[in-house]
Amino acid sequence: MKLATIQNPAGQTFVAVVNAETESYWPVSELISGFEGDMNQLVSQWDKVKGDLVPQGEGYPLEAVAVKAPLVPKRNLFCVGKNYHEHAAEFSKSGFDHSAKDGEIAPEFPVVFTKAPETIIATHEPIPRHAKVTDQLDYEAEFAVVIGKGGRGISKADAYNHVFGYTIVNDMTARDLQKNHRQWFLGKSLDGFCPIGPWIATADDFDVENATLQCWVNGELRQSAVVNQLIFDIPTLIETISAGIELKAGDIIVTGTPVGVGIGFTPPKFLQSGDVVRIEVSGIGALENEVAE
Ligand code: MG
Repeated sequence: MKLATIQNPAGQTFVAVVNAETESYWPVSELISGFEGDMNQLVSQWDKVKGDLVPQGEGYPLEAVAVKAPLVPKRNLFCVGKNYHEHAAEFSKSGFDHSAKDGEIAPEFPVVFTKAPETIIATHEPIPRHAKVTDQLDYEAEFAVVIGKGGRGISKADAYNHVFGYTIVNDMTARDLQKNHRQWFLGKSLDGFCPIGPWIATADDFDVENATLQCWVNGELRQSAVVNQLIFDIPTLIETISAGIELKAGDIIVTGTPVGVGIGFTPPKFLQSGDVVRIEVSGIGALENEVAE
């Protein structure tokens, strides 16, 4: 099942079940009597209400509404760096990685950083250019995990029981800030640096290991990978993060980008105003954003 956050022309925002093939939606409030919550509340109550989410009739046309970011978490998104071998190699070779030990390419342990929730924008919303603070704007197509049942000390074996669903993130990065400031936060967390969506595919009917992740810039294919190529897989990431940090319903873990980012090219292909970044994940859909003037 796919779940979206939608805004109608009257400015009302609500959660809805989506059928991407027929491009239609059903407001959750019409399927669960009395439900007026947002996606965070739907995720929290999921086990109680999911049986009631049975779309009736043809639904409403998606083209008449705006698809917003599916979920804005209550705290920073957990993100993972250098989590595909070939990307770790291109990042190392680029000279932009000031975080690695001498000679190290793939990390020994997961590299975890965060992005503030204020970075989030929806599909088709413009990515701010931030021309006064960066000349080196880059994209990173990523597969993202939405936590359902929270917990601390979650084992790898139990990890998928804590996953609510999956979505797509563009981990936008200012390479100069990432390099110059060593800690990645500034380069990763500028306003608007987290396009996310278009919706969440729930975990119950999603083949996560074989999901494909692809990214185009202005129609040119730049990145293509399968989720099972992750160096640290989803259960390992959940076990690592939750070891000492209690994960909560609605937390988002962004799992890392494959080879083919802008700094992987010689010379680097940084994003400019007007460039369009499109990311597709099989079984979810497409996240598309243009860089603003
Ligand atoms: Mg990334």
